Amino acid sequence: MRQHIVAGNWKMNNSLNEGLKLTTEIMNMVADEVRGNAKVILAPPFIHLTQVKSLIKGAKNVHLSAQNCNHNPSGAFTGEVSASMLNSVGVEYVIIGHSERREYFNETNAQLAAKVNLALENNLLPIFCCGESLEIRESGNFIDFICNQIKESLFHLSEEQFQKVVIAYEPIWAIGTGKTASSEQAQEVHAAIRKFIASKYGANVADDTSILYGGSCKPSNAKELFACADVDGGLIGGASLKSRDFVDIVKSF
Ligand code: PEP
Repeated sequence: MRQHIVAGNWKMNNSLNEGLKLTTEIMNMVADEVRGNAKVILAPPFIHLTQVKSLIKGAKNVHLSAQNCNHNPSGAFTGEVSASMLNSVGVEYVIIGHSERREYFNETNAQLAAKVNLALENNLLPIFCCGESLEIRESGNFIDFICNQIKESLFHLSEEQFQKVVIAYEPIWAIGTGKTASSEQAQEVHAAIRKFIASKYGANVADDTSILYGGSCKPSNAKELFACADVDGGLIGGASLKSRDFVDIVKSF
């Protein structure tokens, strides 16, 4: 049975105090209001990770993710953070291949494959992002494009390794734009991703893989999106910065 997950990607937002306040508010609301089995993941900036970890220790169902890791194990890479460092401070998940990393930092499918390997070697669970630009959507080839991203970065994994991966489908044209994919558009892609996973790893593995939707997901549209058969939760950007909105999304299953 696959897991329902709502992950909040804070991106480069929040001072330390703001981040800790947000974490405390989310933890309190989750404890008071969330009765389902949705897993909550917070992905603050690197420098907040250790203190957010201290706050969430012992909180039922609240987990910690980094937003990125470097594709090298260690060494002279000024300003970068490795998967083993993340593991050493108690991080459990790492977002890999967010479209902003692909676009602004030129991350390639091959580099992302190396990051996925390092994450798994260091006991981190990858939240692997894929998704098409507006241009690719309008060309009609978006399913092939997304499947190729998954193939080139993930399909070298063994079945056991692949089972540790969470997929996030994030159409770039919907990220931070207020333009959400319709539930039909999201379901079409999620079902295609699951079918593609089944073609490589079999139906059981595909059925157990959590596939999250990301792109202007908010309390007003989360219920409809999460009701889709193949949408197992969300990767939330803007709305994860407001505790009320974020927890209302968590409660949308
Ligand atoms: C994201 O960047 O992962 C994202 C989904 O952002 P937003 O929710 O703001 O569209």
